[in-house]
Amino acid sequence: MLTITFLGTGTSQGVPMIGCGCAICTSEDPRDNRTRSSIFVETPECAFVVDTGPEFRAQCLREKIARLDAVVYTHAHTDHIMGFDDLRAFCHGARDLPVYASAETMADLRRVFTFAFNGENRFPGYIKPDAQIVDGSFFLGETEVTPLPVKHGRAQVNGYLFTRCGVKLAAYLSDCKSVADPVVERIRGVRALIVDALRHREHPTHMSVGEALALARKVQPQRTWFTHLCHELGHAETEAALPENVRVAFDGLKLEL
Ligand SMILES: [Zn+2]
Ligand SMILES: [Zn+2]
Ligand SMILES: [Zn+2]
Repeated sequence: MLTITFLGTGTSQGVPMIGCGCAICTSEDPRDNRTRSSIFVETPECAFVVDTGPEFRAQCLREKIARLDAVVYTHAHTDHIMGFDDLRAFCHGARDLPVYASAETMADLRRVFTFAFNGENRFPGYIKPDAQIVDGSFFLGETEVTPLPVKHGRAQVNGYLFTRCGVKLAAYLSDCKSVADPVVERIRGVRALIVDALRHREHPTHMSVGEALALARKVQPQRTWFTHLCHELGHAETEAALPENVRVAFDGLKLEL
């Protein structure tokens, strides 16, 4: 049993965008209100998040998250890391919080949040990260977490595959422009493919709706969920035009896998 809660499903600027009066940014459909992309993953023995965007605190309050055993990062773009300091809420007592990231992403986290990693501040209530470099599959409780290197413009970032008891439950690819064949093979037949679908028009660093649909046809998941949407995609009209097994995620959506 693994439950995914979408903490945020928006692109880097969020939806609505500051100063924009377009139909989506002024929509009354709550699903058109998208905070920056992140997921909360719960299993009976372990709870963790993938990324901590600028609204991480508000997302935790909204979803009443009271426990976090680890944090996993996809990459160090600001829309994925700027809630880092609010992880202090989960570092009470003597506990250091395991933080998983690629060597490159960890170097960025250490640079941006030097105060957290330099070991000087051990006061109770401050964040105490325990840096864990991701260079292959690892376990969080009984969930095997496999990094999936994908192209995100010039950057290479990590998506993640979550497997329990040999069953591929979910692949999370929040930020990607293309997915190489070995990764497609690795995640083929996954129950839930969660993938970047920024907008209809092509973009240099994110998949368009068409590109995300093409990936879904190759991966053949039970169901595909779009995330990291911008204000050009309204929830209802976008979903109405998709195949039945491709849906649009929204903030607060829970998948029980
Ligand atoms: Zn992003
Ligand atoms: Zn807008
Ligand atoms: Zn990014």
